Amino acid sequence: MTDAVPDEEFLLAVLNSTPVVDGVQADDLADATRARAWLASVGGLGAEAELEHVLDVRQALQDVVRGDQPPAVLAPALRGVARIPALTGDQITWTLSVPRERELAVRAVLAWDALARQSPGRLRPCANDECRLFLIDHSKANTARWCSMAACGNRMKARRHYQRVRGAPAG
Ligand SMILES: [Zn+2]
Repeated sequence: MTDAVPDEEFLLAVLNSTPVVDGVQADDLADATRARAWLASVGGLGAEAELEHVLDVRQALQDVVRGDQPPAVLAPALRGVARIPALTGDQITWTLSVPRERELAVRAVLAWDALARQSPGRLRPCANDECRLFLIDHSKANTARWCSMAACGNRMKARRHYQRVRGAPAG
C-alpha cells in the first residue's frame, strides 16, 4: 500500500470532504473526475469502484464519529480483509490483503481505529453545529472544540458575546 499522505491526514480529508459552503452542504467528491484524481494523488488507483467504496465508508465514518451510528456500520468495509505476515530479514512486516479498489476505504477505517486506540476521544465533530467538519485534537489539554479557530472558533465566540450583550442565554 502506498502512503502518499499519512493515514490520519487521509482520514480527516475524507471526513472533511462535505463542508458547508455559504450555508449549504457541499461535497468535494461529487465531481467524479476530480474526486478520482484526488484518490490517485493520495495513493489510490483513481478508479470509479474505488471512489464508490470511499464514499460509502465516508458516510459510515461520519455517522460513527458524530455518534449517529454504532461502529458496526463499518464492518462491511472490512469484510474479507486480511493481513499477511512476511519475514524480512529478522523482522515481520504485515501487508494488507484486500482488492486494490478497496484499499483506500479500508485504510480510512483502519486509521479511524488506530486513532481511537492511540488517542481516544481526539477525533470529533466541530462544536459549531452549522459546521460539518471534524477535527483531531492534538492539544495537550484535549480541549479543542473547533475545526479551526479562524473559521468557527471566532465566529462562535462572537455569537456568544452578542447573545450575552443582548441578555439571551448563551448557546
Ligand atoms: Zn467548524
